Amino acid sequence: MMAATSSPLPRSRLARLGDGMARHAGAIQVMQWGMVVVYLALVSIPAFLPVPDDSRHIWDDLVLFAQFAFWGVWWPFVMVSMLVMGRAWCGVFCPEGTMTEWASRHGLGRAIPAWLRWRGWPFVAFVCTTVYGQMITVYEYPKAALLILGASTVMALAVGWIYGRGHRVWCRYLCPASGVFSLLSRLAPLHFQVDAQAWRAAPRQHAVQCAPLVDVRSQTGGGGCQMCGRCSGHRDAVTLAPRLPGIEVTHLPQREVSPWDIVLLLFGMMGVATGAFQWSGSPLFVALKQGVATVLIEHGIIAPMTTSLPWWILTNSDETGEVFSLLDGACLLAYMGGSALAFGLVGLGGLALAARLGGDVKALWRLGYGLIPQAAVGLVVGLSSMTLTQLGTEGIIFAWVPEARAALLALGMVWSGVLLWSLLPPRRRPLAWLAAMAGVLFHATAWALFFF
Ligand code: SF4
Repeated sequence: MMAATSSPLPRSRLARLGDGMARHAGAIQVMQWGMVVVYLALVSIPAFLPVPDDSRHIWDDLVLFAQFAFWGVWWPFVMVSMLVMGRAWCGVFCPEGTMTEWASRHGLGRAIPAWLRWRGWPFVAFVCTTVYGQMITVYEYPKAALLILGASTVMALAVGWIYGRGHRVWCRYLCPASGVFSLLSRLAPLHFQVDAQAWRAAPRQHAVQCAPLVDVRSQTGGGGCQMCGRCSGHRDAVTLAPRLPGIEVTHLPQREVSPWDIVLLLFGMMGVATGAFQWSGSPLFVALKQGVATVLIEHGIIAPMTTSLPWWILTNSDETGEVFSLLDGACLLAYMGGSALAFGLVGLGGLALAARLGGDVKALWRLGYGLIPQAAVGLVVGLSSMTLTQLGTEGIIFAWVPEARAALLALGMVWSGVLLWSLLPPRRRPLAWLAAMAGVLFHATAWALFFF
């Protein structure tokens, strides 16, 4: 925190950038509505176009272009942006955020009920969306993308319409990506810093309207802040400022520590998501499917291999002929469930042991935040695989990809290792650190085996 001053110091370039965001909120809104138009067009129009054949390209076919824009550019770069700029995507660019806030400004303005504030929603929403997306192959079929993204947008509008007054209740409590974004942004080297002394010393002003319902005065980091910049310069106490990447994790106030964050991190981001990224190229998945099929055939049970379901339950495309059988669907669920349990339990077990060795079992949840870099790397390498596959079909291949992947995996391990070391108490630290690293090493090994 900065020291209180009687006359404010000249503001740095970064601070002036934040102030500029507050001054030009109108221009930001225009851009946000531009994003809404582009998003709605890309999510809806391709669903009514024919599936392209092999002669079409990203640059001459809207279906392929939208696929590349959503899954090749949007998702991976949004994840990376969280690590670089905090949740600026949410506060400045996200079309759903813009729409839900608009709906909330014109809607019923009801109080937010207790059930909606439950901290487990981001985990539940993330897992459901990820699993359902794989079941209907959201990355390939525009109708599936319209169903998932469209349903999310409709829910964002409905929640905005019912709850809050100009707030982003959806983003704060329910958005399937909000928990992930909140965790990743805690590593960012930028944040809106609040000087508590300057705040107290400043004359009273109108309260700043923070759309995602952050208590600006007491906010200490990036988790909930969407970096919209509207509070920049408020009471001469709020400043866009640099910080050491990851320092928020090592200085997390107790009120911010949530077991649900760690459940999302271990079972969701490291577990379900890794299963979702890897199943289609996994020899384990093939072995599982063949093993179950063999047993079924031996018992004369053929239906699970010949039965399909409507496309909105399980992939079933007339145009490409791609159909998932009940067996495919069941193996998919088993693989992602197994992945969630394996990564989740190894990670949690390691953290619990580390906390015990350190002499404070309650430190388990706080320690969990040290695994954010490794989970982040998993998401980045997984999502960028899709980008590279899409570019590969266009003949664009990068020779340096294996080295880049290895470097990223190493970075995730080292960064998590450093954070875990700082989070552990001195008591039996080396031993506790080894235990805490179990989840990191297991996750990195799974990716290394998958790629190399
Ligand atoms: S605390 Fe709220 S108002 Fe301030 S930058 Fe973050 S999201 Fe915007």
